[in-house]
Amino acid sequence: PTRVGVLALQGDVREHARVLSGLGAEAVLVRRPSELAEVDGLVLPGGESSVIDKLSRAFGMQQPIRDAIAGGLPVYGTCAGLILLADRITDGIAGQQTFGGLDVTVRRNAFGSQVDSFETDLDVPALGAPPVHAVFIRAPLVEASGPDVETLASLDDGRIVAVRQGNLIGTAFHPEVTGEHRFHELFLRVVESVRR
Ligand code: GLN
Repeated sequence: PTRVGVLALQGDVREHARVLSGLGAEAVLVRRPSELAEVDGLVLPGGESSVIDKLSRAFGMQQPIRDAIAGGLPVYGTCAGLILLADRITDGIAGQQTFGGLDVTVRRNAFGSQVDSFETDLDVPALGAPPVHAVFIRAPLVEASGPDVETLASLDDGRIVAVRQGNLIGTAFHPEVTGEHRFHELFLRVVESVRR
């Protein structure tokens, strides 16, 4: 089967592993470079991007992940994972870094404290009907994106919450917690197309 890693330093690793296994992929928890080297794709989970950033540097994973992304490894990031894929972030903690790869500017905790968390139904043309029930938890927003970035979903007011650029996919919300599997299916199709 397709081997897909889930970066397992912090965050909702199990939820992603469960969805991937449910779709017939082999989900591998990735904590070291040797584990990263054995997967055909990588999921960056939701959680706290600043913590995942720090741990990835402490575990010697930042450069290997950057190299893998530059080499075309398919990566799907949800929420904190989207932040980690962004080339530029605003409202990061002091010194916060990302792996980068997506030509986007992402604002952390973009919805402020009043609407910390909310749920909504999103039209995602690339996934067809029905709409995606999306859960946002202290979610980021894509504030700006480069010419090669495809918007997969926006809120009613136009703010961008899901993007794709080549083999990289990012969502500001968490399909892995609502039984929504179509983003992971799309990701697995990307992984399989690269693997061939
Ligand atoms: N606010 C978190 C961060 O900055 C992301 C929250 C999430 O992943 N649900 O990383």
